[in-house]
Amino acid sequence: MNERTWTPLELIKTTAEYLAKKDVPEPRLDADVLMMHVLGCNRMDLYGRIHDRPLEDEEVNRYRELVRRRAVREPVSRILGRREFMGLPVRVSPDVLSPRPETEILVEQALKVLRPDLKGLPVLKLDEAGHVPIAPAPLGGPNKKVLDLCTGSGCVALSLAAFCPDALLVATDISAEALLVAKENAESIGLWLRIDFREGDLYKTCWDDETFDLIVSNPPYLVQGDDAIWPEVRDYDPPLALYGGSDGLDFYRKILAEAEMFLEPGGWVMLEVGAGQAGAVMQMMREHTLLEQIDTEPDYAGVPRVVKARKPLR
Ligand code: GLN
Repeated sequence: MNERTWTPLELIKTTAEYLAKKDVPEPRLDADVLMMHVLGCNRMDLYGRIHDRPLEDEEVNRYRELVRRRAVREPVSRILGRREFMGLPVRVSPDVLSPRPETEILVEQALKVLRPDLKGLPVLKLDEAGHVPIAPAPLGGPNKKVLDLCTGSGCVALSLAAFCPDALLVATDISAEALLVAKENAESIGLWLRIDFREGDLYKTCWDDETFDLIVSNPPYLVQGDDAIWPEVRDYDPPLALYGGSDGLDFYRKILAEAEMFLEPGGWVMLEVGAGQAGAVMQMMREHTLLEQIDTEPDYAGVPRVVKARKPLR
């Protein structure tokens, strides 16, 4: 028995104050989202209809359990087991990096190359089964081949497949556990036939003369021991998906060492980078590759977040 009767609104307010004391970055938003999860409702229902109906003891207890987890900085995505990315529901687990909003910049840049016909991004409408509706691929289309290295939850490959019905996707990851999550994600949104998931380090599963029109990656790029890493990331994302060696740049070195070999002439490589890494990655491209049109794209905070470059046409 709980000591008193709560309404959702009262409990949300008290919880937001509690989470704020625990230094949770967006206490009110999180208190709302966890309540919507417990009540199985959306924001409109919560605030329009049920904010002042008394909660059952069982609902309060379930909510408290989730709040307890959030208070020790477990990310909301992990508490809920899913996260939205480019409008797609992506399941996450301890084996994969929780997709970040910044990574949507990488996808948007990739779409500029893959879908130059799109003016702005169409809203993805899932069908009744929760699947991405199968859009007919343009007949005789170019069938652009795309390689997503370090696919993790699969979020990048999934959204590219969803927006580009004619693209052929290969997604690799060294972690068998991560690939299982990625495959499940592809299955649950109806994209399992569109992506060739392969287990192996970076290009290891690519055959010698296999080439792509686009190589994308959001590789691990953090520096071990960096104090600026949020507890949500440091304590809950898998280390394998986070750390890129003593300067955080190991994966850029490895990816760029072989990128030209696996690119079609005129093909693009697009890499998400950590804050402050864009200069070093551009430098690497200039010094160690023949790639051209080297450029960066900023994220919403103005931080250069994607570095891209093109293989010369000949
Ligand atoms: N590509 C995945 C993502 O962007 C995983 C990245 C990673 O594990 N470093 O979320």
